[in-house]
Order: sequence, then structure tokens, then C-alpha cells
Amino acid sequence: MRTENETIFDRYLEGQTRRIFKNERHYLRAEYIPEYLPHRDEEISQLAGILSTALKGERPSNILIFGKTGTGKTACAKYIGKELRRKVETDERAKKVNYVYINCKVVDTEYGVLAAIGNNFTRTDDEKIPFTGWPMEKVYNHLKDRIEAAKGVTLIILDEIDQHVYKSGGNVLYLLTNLNDEMQGAKVSIIGITNDSKFTDHLEMRIKTRLGEEKVVFPPYNADELKDILVQRADMAFEKGALEPAVIPLCSALAAQEHGDARRALDLLRVAGEIAERECATIVAERHVHKAKNKIELDVLNEIIRSLPTQSKVLLTAIIMGTEADTTQMTTGEVYDNYREMCRVARISPLTQRRITDLISELDMLGIISATLKSFGRGGGRTRLIRLSVSPVETKSILSEDDEIRTIVDYRSRQIRLF
Ligand code: ADP
Ligand code: MG
Repeated sequence: MRTENETIFDRYLEGQTRRIFKNERHYLRAEYIPEYLPHRDEEISQLAGILSTALKGERPSNILIFGKTGTGKTACAKYIGKELRRKVETDERAKKVNYVYINCKVVDTEYGVLAAIGNNFTRTDDEKIPFTGWPMEKVYNHLKDRIEAAKGVTLIILDEIDQHVYKSGGNVLYLLTNLNDEMQGAKVSIIGITNDSKFTDHLEMRIKTRLGEEKVVFPPYNADELKDILVQRADMAFEKGALEPAVIPLCSALAAQEHGDARRALDLLRVAGEIAERECATIVAERHVHKAKNKIELDVLNEIIRSLPTQSKVLLTAIIMGTEADTTQMTTGEVYDNYREMCRVARISPLTQRRITDLISELDMLGIISATLKSFGRGGGRTRLIRLSVSPVETKSILSEDDEIRTIVDYRSRQIRLF
């Protein structure tokens, strides 16, 4: 029996007598850049060596930075920017350096990149290059004027540069690397950052050579290195004694298996802490890390489903609804019939059975479905049996965020109610 003052919320506040996080959990987020970046001394001094030329008023070589996700590329680039700015402000021998950081995943058009760089130099809103509407040439000329007026050396960091090249081609890189020939009083260097070592294959030879004057590679972290990175951040974010001793080594080992990804290691630690907090546990234990791993993997899979092309979404809906209605598995032929019916409802023109067979293989490879080959004895032919590997209810609700898929789902549930 509950006493009069007891409520269903009591246990949550009781957990507060012993807290897991300090009020500083943002220290575990990927956007936070610590004062010191363990195990990146070599890469940082390599970059500082190249860029220090700018402090003497000379143009440093353009640089391409390569490395897998979570190897500290963005963190180091921002850290170096901060250090450069400090040097320029505090040492009168240092020449003027402008440091412009652009994330090409966020700003992904040619116009957008040029406008964003130009707007780094403006102070008032009236001077700003508008988001759209100007002819490209006007944007380019404004950008050039502003860099020239700013004087000194301008370092332009293009993070996730591959995204830009794949979406908008490499023309902007041509324009930017060309700036030096068109300006008298100012100099420009480009620092491109990417986790895709192949993207330069998509560039014209002259741009490729210009951009890659210097190359710096960020290797993946091993488990010991990840441990040091986590210890530093955990001290800032967690209460003393809130982590079982095995927690950080486990997060590091799991992330090292992945590919030495510091972001994954930090996510594991943060999510494990959040799960422990929600359970009102007094300490983060290994089991919370395992739960965190499952949650993160599921989130990743859901994101993949969310970003599938429409045809694959229709196909997946056909598989979900087919396996829900009749059996747990379907043949390729049954899936195709179902898929065509859904295309009719959503007024989408259907792909050929051959293409659908390819898309089925893709969904199989992504781990969303499993397709096993089955032969029906001698002369009986072969087909693939398709099962769903994800939760039908949750997947259907993710797919229904798409209007076309919602039309199909609604239509089907009306049909079922009619029978
Ligand atoms: P990338 O840009 O290579 O994908 P990030 O620089 O975004 O990786 O790093 C991901 C996360 O890991 C960030 O939160 C970053 O602060 C952290 N991180 C990466 N390397 C280090 C390091 N050497 N020391 C401390 N934190 C790091
Ligand atoms: Mg990055």
C-alpha cells in the first residue's frame, strides 16, 4: 500500500541523493573540443608546421586531411584555429591570419559555400550575402573583395569536403584555389577534411593536384588511446565514483573494434550513463554499456531506414505488410506482387523484378531483412525466402514519416478493417 504522500515519481528524485552526471554532461558530446587532445600531438604539430607559414605572411600549402570518422579531424582543425587566433592576438610579430571553418555537410551548395565564406568577414546584417538570389559571379566577386579587404592570409577549412564534391561537383574548389591568382593584397589556402580517401577520384586533375599539395593522415585510435580520451572527458562529466572501473575499458574496447572511433566511444559512455540514470542505478555498470551498444546500433539502423530511397521504402513496406498478414517469410515473387500493389496505391511507377531483386539484396546487406536461397528439389527451381530482421511496428512507424508510405499504410489498414 502506498502512503498518502507517495507518488510514482518518488524513485526518480531519490536517485538524486547520489548522482551519476555532474551538470556538465555536454563534455561528452561530440561538439565539445577539450583544451588538450591526447594522442594527436604528431598530427597537430604536422599541421601547425605547415600552417605556421601564415603567421609570417606567406601562403601555406593547401592541405588534404584524411581519416576515418571519429579520429579527431574536426576537433584538431578547430583546436588549431583557436591556437592560431590566440597567437595572432597576443604576439605582435605574428601577421594577420583569418581562419574560416565551413562544414560542407551543412552548407552543401556551391552558392552556399561561397556565401558562407564571404559572410565570415561581415559584421552587420546589411553587408551579408543573402542565402539565395544573387548571380554566382556577384557572390564570387563579393567574396574576393572581402578577402582582399581583410588582408593577410585566409585559411579556409572545408570539413567533409567529399559531401560537397559528390553533391555539387568540384567547381567551387576550382574557384577557391584560383583566388590567389586574382588577388594582390591577400592570400588564400584551402584545408580540406574528409573520411573518404576516394573522393579525389571525382575531381579534375588540376584541382586534385592543387588541393593535395600536402596530405595529412589521421590513423584510427587503439583501445588504450581511446581509454585516455574517455578518462579525460569522464572526469569532467561524471561524479566521482559514478563509473564502475570496468566501464571505460569496455567502451574503449568496443569502439576500437568498430574502427577506433572516439565519437562512438564517447557515445557509448554517455548513453550508458543516461541508461543508468534512468534506471535510478547508483553506479554505471558494464551491463549499462552493453545496453548502450544495442541502443546506439538500433538508432543507426533506424537512421539507415529513414534515409532509404523511396523505392526501397515501398519495397520494405511490402515485405513488412506481407509478413504481417500471412506468414513470417515470403518468396521473391510474393514480395514483387505485393510491391506492385503498393506502387499502385501510392501512384508510383514500379521497377522491374530484376531491379527489385537487387534492392532486396541491398536490404539484406544492410541487415534490415534476411534473404536465404531455397531450392525446390530437382527441376523445382530456386527462390529466395525473405524475412524481416527488424521490428515491424517500429519500422512501419519510421517509414510512415514519408507521405507516400503513409498513404500505403493507411490504405492497407482501412482494407483490413473492411474484412
Ligand atoms: P572526426 O572529425 O575525425 O570524425 P571528431 O574530431 O569530430 O572526429 O571527433 C569525435 C569526437 O571525439 C569529438 O567529441 C572529439 O572531441 C573527440 N575526440 C577525438 N579525438 C580526440 C582526442 N585526441 N582527444 C580528445 N577528444 C577527442
Ligand atoms: Mg569531422
